[in-house]
Amino acid sequence: MAEGGKTYLYPRNKRDDDDNDSSRNNQLPKSWSPPSTTTTTDVHYSTLLAEMEPYFHRENTEDFSYADLDCIPAFLLERAHEVINLHLEYNLLNQLSTELGTFKNLVHLDVSNNRISKISDEICKLNYLRSFICRNNNLKVESIPKDFGLMKSLMLLNVSGNSFNEVPVQFTEISTLRSLYLGANLIVNVPKEIGDLKRLEILYLGGNRLKSIPAEVGSMNSLVSLVLSDNQLAQLPNSLARLKNLQSLSLHNNRLSTLPPELIHLNLIELSLRNNPLVVRFVQDLTYEPPSLKELSGRIIKIKNISYGRFDLPANLIDYLNSGSQCVNPKCKGVYFSSCIEHIKFVDFCGKYRLPLLQYLCSPKCTSTPLVPYSSEESDDSTDEDALKLLPVVSKKIQKVLLG
Ligand SMILES: [Zn+2]
Repeated sequence: MAEGGKTYLYPRNKRDDDDNDSSRNNQLPKSWSPPSTTTTTDVHYSTLLAEMEPYFHRENTEDFSYADLDCIPAFLLERAHEVINLHLEYNLLNQLSTELGTFKNLVHLDVSNNRISKISDEICKLNYLRSFICRNNNLKVESIPKDFGLMKSLMLLNVSGNSFNEVPVQFTEISTLRSLYLGANLIVNVPKEIGDLKRLEILYLGGNRLKSIPAEVGSMNSLVSLVLSDNQLAQLPNSLARLKNLQSLSLHNNRLSTLPPELIHLNLIELSLRNNPLVVRFVQDLTYEPPSLKELSGRIIKIKNISYGRFDLPANLIDYLNSGSQCVNPKCKGVYFSSCIEHIKFVDFCGKYRLPLLQYLCSPKCTSTPLVPYSSEESDDSTDEDALKLLPVVSKKIQKVLLG
């Protein structure tokens, strides 16, 4: 593997399953296909890596990924102080031992896909370490050194795919952190101290066992992307509405049946809600009661503009006729009183995310084709654009659906 202290790089294309860091792959893996969308999270991750780019020179980079290493080799330790960028992914390391402390100038360390269950205190002496990637190992809360919170320069910490059942409180003490990835762990609780991470821009907690998140998340002023998908969240704190910089909120695959009404004030670019009762329940609950004879008569009087006065009808019927609502379908001239059809339309909102929109229409026919018998206009399928036009009209009703 290495002779006489001479080192050589392993071919980059061996990292074809390293999905989180495609910017470093020179060759596309066989299974590569273009991502369907570039998320805000990806953009910020790339920005952070780009900021570290000046450190990533071949002469101070050591890449010993896929090398069957079960410890850091001696020849590498001899020149440890020269190494700034160290790759040890896909090896057999079961700990980051005390020798790690000799890499005094390390800026970027990637030890993903090993078997690491213990990290030596010596890591806390790496005063220049900006990014520590330790995905897919065996880390637990007790694996993390107690002084880990004193890391001076750490900006990017990725410990997704480990065995944490809670967020180590040391992580919440690293005031320099800008990205924290804790996805695909076993986390049940997030400590309220998470709110101390005032510079954090990306918080990734997807794929855990969260039933709630603390209100203090709402005080993370710099947060741009918050990923809470694939958990067991039944509700969210109102305080999330204070995240004025938040652009991306991932909530899919949870148990949310309501969202805090304040959330509508966020300036989100991305919002994912699929596979929550919020959406599914409303679709299942949609029913249609046939209109009464009174309703049908009332509709005809309104649509045909039949005149009536206070000497023609009793006052209660006049009140009833005055209570009619116009069907919200712009292609329908229908009127309804107490009987209308609720229809969920999933709308691409601002071209960015799907919004479950509740429409009130005059009849079931109005849902599949916008025409009702009263209209003389051509029949065609109502489009998402039509639904968007309805938005101001039914804005209060949208809130009912979206906010529960
Ligand atoms: Zn209608």
